[in-house]
Amino acid sequence: MVAEKAADTTKERNNQLDVLSSTQATIKNALEKLGYPDEVYELLKEPLRMMTVRIPVRMDDGSTKIFTGYRAQHNDAVGPTKGGIRFHPDVTEKEVKALSIWMSLKAGIVDLPYGGGKGGIICDPREMSFRELEALSRGYVRAISQIVGPTKDIPAPDVFTNSQIMAWMMDEYSRMDEFNSPGFITGKPIVLGGSHGRESATAKGVTICINEAAKKRNLSVKGAKVIVQGFGNAGSFLSKFLHDEGAIVVGISDAYGALYDPEGLDIDYLLDRRDSFGTVTKLFNNTLTNKELLESECDILVPAAVENQITKENAHNIKASIVVEAANGPTTTEATKILTERGILLVPDVLASAGGVTVSYFEWVQNNQGYYWTEEEIEEKLLQTMVKSFNTIYDTAHNRKVDMRLAAYMVGVRKMAEASRFRGWV
Ligand code: GLU
Repeated sequence: MVAEKAADTTKERNNQLDVLSSTQATIKNALEKLGYPDEVYELLKEPLRMMTVRIPVRMDDGSTKIFTGYRAQHNDAVGPTKGGIRFHPDVTEKEVKALSIWMSLKAGIVDLPYGGGKGGIICDPREMSFRELEALSRGYVRAISQIVGPTKDIPAPDVFTNSQIMAWMMDEYSRMDEFNSPGFITGKPIVLGGSHGRESATAKGVTICINEAAKKRNLSVKGAKVIVQGFGNAGSFLSKFLHDEGAIVVGISDAYGALYDPEGLDIDYLLDRRDSFGTVTKLFNNTLTNKELLESECDILVPAAVENQITKENAHNIKASIVVEAANGPTTTEATKILTERGILLVPDVLASAGGVTVSYFEWVQNNQGYYWTEEEIEEKLLQTMVKSFNTIYDTAHNRKVDMRLAAYMVGVRKMAEASRFRGWV
């Protein structure tokens, strides 16, 4: 009952606040600032390819259910497309398109030889058995097999998908290909060619951005009060990293509610009690709503859940002086404007969450070369990449007198626009 209610509200909000249109408007703005003609915008405003598939799955009760899935490939001028697959009841075609555009921007920002891709299946994995999830994962790979592959489009985990799902998908592709193909997908278990550090990579990247942002604002992360909205892959690792660094994690949340304690929460206890979907607040009685949490007292706020959380309705009430977006699309265009006018440093999603795809790239390189790196090597490479990207975007924002989101779009779109031009597409 509670789950349905939460999902309905997110869906309604996403219908009203269309992430694709707002992304397109920012891309247009970025291309204009860079002096590109309108035809470049016409090329980049939508994915080059969008596949819709219907996947029949035999359910445990003997019935057959047909699931709808998507795979969007935004632009492959720079290289193969790359990006995760989400399993969520609120997945829409428009959302998957926007997510694929964001992946192109991330690849541009951290300078990877990829374009963006994204997949999604409308389903609720919280209500499916292990066997049903395996059948759905394998069915999806069979349905999209023509357009994906290690040199075409390389999937990865996203909301409610994990290394086990990547393993099934890799196995299904390898069977069809009649060849072991670890480079088909990233985010795999280590024993199947996964990379050290991939599971925590998004959170590591966000942590690096928080540290860089704090330096700019002369704020010490040690002792700073932090709220992390969302306790999934990004939110849980992030809470742990910040807690270990000496930050006081005063608030966390999941899809059902939020916890807040001005003295700091017992993060190790919460991590221990969370389920595989990041649910933990059900264990407590006096919880807050996600809305209340976002407006609670803190120095640093990290939305690490879903889209459209900071809107024009609550942007005026945000207490943090730094907002770092670990989720994709958590802040609307109007809210970005309000936060910027209020002098809040907003580190945008396409930069802050790019650590995941960066280590996915390292995984793919290791798969291609058949030689594997240590965790220390991965961490060092990720640190260098994120610090450099953060500062490039921070300086671009400063020099061009734009907010960090527009600066990130300008940096992210440039390589793709240039590559498309050299290829003679525009
Ligand atoms: N799904 C993640 C993202 O949104 C990671 C994508 C990848 O590793 O390819 O950035």
